[in-house]
Amino acid sequence: MNSTESSAFSQLDLPASQLENLERMGYTQMTPVQQQTLPAALAGQDIIAQAKTGSGKTAAFGLPLLSKINPRFFGVQALVLCPTRELSTQVAEEIRKLARFQANIKVVVLCGGMSIGPQIGSLEHGAHIVVGTPGRIKDHLRKETLKIDQVQTLVLDEADRMLDMGFTDDIHHIVAHTPANRQTLLFSATYPENIGQLSAEFQHNPLNVKVEAVH
Ligand code: ADP
Ligand code: MG
Repeated sequence: MNSTESSAFSQLDLPASQLENLERMGYTQMTPVQQQTLPAALAGQDIIAQAKTGSGKTAAFGLPLLSKINPRFFGVQALVLCPTRELSTQVAEEIRKLARFQANIKVVVLCGGMSIGPQIGSLEHGAHIVVGTPGRIKDHLRKETLKIDQVQTLVLDEADRMLDMGFTDDIHHIVAHTPANRQTLLFSATYPENIGQLSAEFQHNPLNVKVEAVH
């Protein structure tokens, strides 16, 4: 197999409609982090991956989480934690594009610095995927406006930044509300010791991937 064949999305266990969607998005070849994580992540394994900004991490967790969404069940089935509002908005936009192959998948963004009323309204209408910052998600759990006990995929995106920003306790609080048998995907640009601790606490037999920067 040459390198072009081994990085084609078509070798993954994805529906034909998703492969067409990826082609429409201009995604022909997987990036290195996608190539190294997607087969295991789509098979349900936990992943801890270190890769720099711009390496295509969003699709590396977006495709596995979408593959498990049941659109007919209007409960939160995937939760993505991000350090900032800007990153949450970007991730939600990318997931919405990746979700276009399948009708009626609702993605809701929950971040601080935005009024909480409309967020509660969106959640009442039913959300399949929630993307947001740990502080605001914890607020919604406290108010019981968000239920995450049916979450099948938990993503910690830019985990190193979330820890740097002081979200460690909030993350623990949130994870305690998710089912123990969830899939946990952890992405980080760096690998300080506290990331290893987070992985040991939240993950089962994770595949450890490190993508070296290509110069
Ligand atoms: P990261 O989270 O690692 O910083 P992103 O997921 O934001 O990276 O992706 C960076 C950019 O690359 C985005 O514009 C995204 O649309 C694009 N991208 C991701 N995967 C692919 C791919 N396989 N082919 C082409 N473009 C891609
Ligand atoms: Mg990213």
